[in-house]
Amino acid sequence: MTAPSYIGRFAPTPSGHLHFGSLVAALASYLDARAVGGRWLLRMEDLDPPREMPGAQAAILHALEQYGFEWDGELVRQSDRHAAYAEVVDRLFSLGLAYACTCSRKQLEGYNGIYPGLCRNAGHSMDNAAIRLRVPELTYAFEDRVQGEYRQHLGREVGDFVIRRRDGLYAYQLAVVLDDAWQGVTDIVRGADLLDSTARQLYLQELLGLSQPRYLHVPLIVQPDGHKLGKSYRSPPLTPDQATPLLLRALRTLGQVTDDCLNDATPREVLDWAITHWDANLIPRTLTLAEAQLR
Ligand code: GLU
Ligand code: ZN
Repeated sequence: MTAPSYIGRFAPTPSGHLHFGSLVAALASYLDARAVGGRWLLRMEDLDPPREMPGAQAAILHALEQYGFEWDGELVRQSDRHAAYAEVVDRLFSLGLAYACTCSRKQLEGYNGIYPGLCRNAGHSMDNAAIRLRVPELTYAFEDRVQGEYRQHLGREVGDFVIRRRDGLYAYQLAVVLDDAWQGVTDIVRGADLLDSTARQLYLQELLGLSQPRYLHVPLIVQPDGHKLGKSYRSPPLTPDQATPLLLRALRTLGQVTDDCLNDATPREVLDWAITHWDANLIPRTLTLAEAQLR
């Protein structure tokens, strides 16, 4: 059997409800897949139980259904994938590509989040320690379909990064790379807040002999006043009565044409129309968009 030529995915974190920014990301990945007859998978990134909002998983699935999204195959939960992550962490550790770090938060103050390598050669055991991946003193670069060329020097701009936390939880960077490869994802369409994670993910793919997907980072929706950047800002949860107008607004945010005949359409009809009209080249080539400026 030949591998399908396009497999996309949406990978929400159940730390809260879906909001307008998540709708923009979900819609872009969905339309980009369906416009070429590709598959669209759904993965729940429930790696961090302490930060999970009770009921968020069900609310996310419900909102996606109400907004007309249909995904292929079974939902994958990262909480079911710990054995796969553990196997890779152990392998990287025993090969010396990763090492145990016992630094306290206090010790790492003043380094601007770039790990100074204190435990690199300390030979700590894995117990009760964070596991960090050694990064090469190299620039990783890729061509994003919307944002253009993106480059990052892993040594200078990132530093050795955590793949398993001290409390035993697996890091997003590791899980996302393993799961995208395991699910055969060819195209990653997501918010531009993850652009600066991509170089780390490219390095992990290279290290593990995994193929590199194509990337498309859509603008991050930020505060109405445009000031505070995305991660902390969440517009209200998506409600079912707003599905059609919010889908239309999300389409316009993505630079897509809409039509007045869609104002009374069902969410499913809006999606079907949008699949046939999708043009990723129209997505604004910017990292952020302020919510109030959207039509
Ligand atoms: N779970 C991540 C988030 O909700 C998205 C991960 C990804 O798309 O790579 O921000
Ligand atoms: Zn350390």
